[in-house]
Amino acid sequence: MALMTGEQYVESIANLKMEIYMFGKKIDNPVEDPILRPSLNSVKATYDLAQMPEYEGLMTATSHLTGERINRFSHIHQNAEDLVKKVKMQRLCGQTTAACFQRCVGMDAFNAIYSTTYEVDKAHGTSYHENFLKFLRYCQEKDLVVDGAMTDPKGDRSLAPSKQEDPDLFLRVVERRPDGVVVRGAKAHQTGMCNSHEVITMPTIAMGPDDKDYAISFAVPLDTPGLFMIIGRQSCDTRKLEGGEIDVGNSRYGGVEALAVFDDVFVPNERLFLNGETEFAGMLVERFAGYHRQSYGGCKVGVGDVLIGAAAVAADYNGVAKASHVKDKLIEMTHLNETLYACGIACSAEGRPTESGNYMIDLLLANVCKQNVTRFPYEIARLAEDLAGGIVVTAPSEQDLKDPKIGPVVEKYFKGVAGVSTENRLRILRLIENLTLGTAAVGYRTESLHGAGSPQAQRIMISRQGNLAAKKELAKRIARIEE
Ligand code: SF4
Ligand code: FE
Repeated sequence: MALMTGEQYVESIANLKMEIYMFGKKIDNPVEDPILRPSLNSVKATYDLAQMPEYEGLMTATSHLTGERINRFSHIHQNAEDLVKKVKMQRLCGQTTAACFQRCVGMDAFNAIYSTTYEVDKAHGTSYHENFLKFLRYCQEKDLVVDGAMTDPKGDRSLAPSKQEDPDLFLRVVERRPDGVVVRGAKAHQTGMCNSHEVITMPTIAMGPDDKDYAISFAVPLDTPGLFMIIGRQSCDTRKLEGGEIDVGNSRYGGVEALAVFDDVFVPNERLFLNGETEFAGMLVERFAGYHRQSYGGCKVGVGDVLIGAAAVAADYNGVAKASHVKDKLIEMTHLNETLYACGIACSAEGRPTESGNYMIDLLLANVCKQNVTRFPYEIARLAEDLAGGIVVTAPSEQDLKDPKIGPVVEKYFKGVAGVSTENRLRILRLIENLTLGTAAVGYRTESLHGAGSPQAQRIMISRQGNLAAKKELAKRIARIEE
């Protein structure tokens, strides 16, 4: 079964007995939970699209391990074209769901760990790469979703992991046994973890010799004893409990984040991909972050396409589509969105092979890509709200629209151009609200800032990769300076 259908995927998640908490309660049936279900649907879309013949080339790839057709989200990039296709696939998924479809973190963890374990083994004679290949083959053959878990809670940001007052603020090994290790700690902001079969952890920062117990990378199934999740709140999330459709804005799809707690979780030796080799923690972080910063040049662009479309529809419904400033705002939104895409494609096209043979994006361009993503979606969202009008935050509820007494009043006074129903006008406005202020704003707006690393993290990489010394030499040569 190298490719699951969407239905098989949903069933497989329903069969996993995960420990999930939300609003102070344990969720017994997360698959049917009205707040969580839309996020599961987004991941399901990565399976549904892979079944469609027109998307076969984008959504699937040939495994370099088995020669089988697999979902591209489980693929190890074999060339620059694979990297480009990855970004195009993410744009397609963003256009389809208008949400975070969550499966990219696993793909980016796969590729970062693939090359890093190869280099760790070369330096230390360990067998992490072999461990990882076995795990990867299993995930490819079963078509699994894997959560990539990097961000530790971090406590006092000025202190190293081993110097924290509470030693659990970075995930760590608390016991070493002949057959494996026991880990304790947590990973924060875990995108899509409750919709995943397995989780791969990675260290979150470069580490020193004292941080040996923290330099750990491993994979475990989501139903492993001691592992549980606390779901993060999103703006307007309880609207999903009202039973309506319009006010949710995007009733079919969504994203979800969780705090994942590892409360003395046992990890067998064959599932370890790094265990104490502190000098490789930085490499793993840099590579994962690089791939994930490339990812944002695809997913956020796809969601941006939906937002631009929604703003244009709102302008149509308001009867202002022909105004020159409206046209110009849509041009500006498109320009910004395509600039992000250009960065995603550029860092992919400039990809190079690692020592292990898989392809790595151009790190400088990937960091420039993500740095732009920390800004442009905000401007795109601002322009969308501009075009939507203040009604985007003042419109009455779906219940008012459907009420026998006041419904006709809402109908009358919230109407735009003739020929368009008030309901349709409210639907498009609620979608804009959802993308800029509601549940999807987590994935589109705020995640654009902090996901894959906050802006300063990219600036550090840009300063490291920018090669200022070479640029100074260029200038001196042109100015005919001899020192
Ligand atoms: Fe994928 Fe984008 Fe969500 Fe990250 S934020 S998991 S890249 S859709
Ligand atoms: Fe993300």
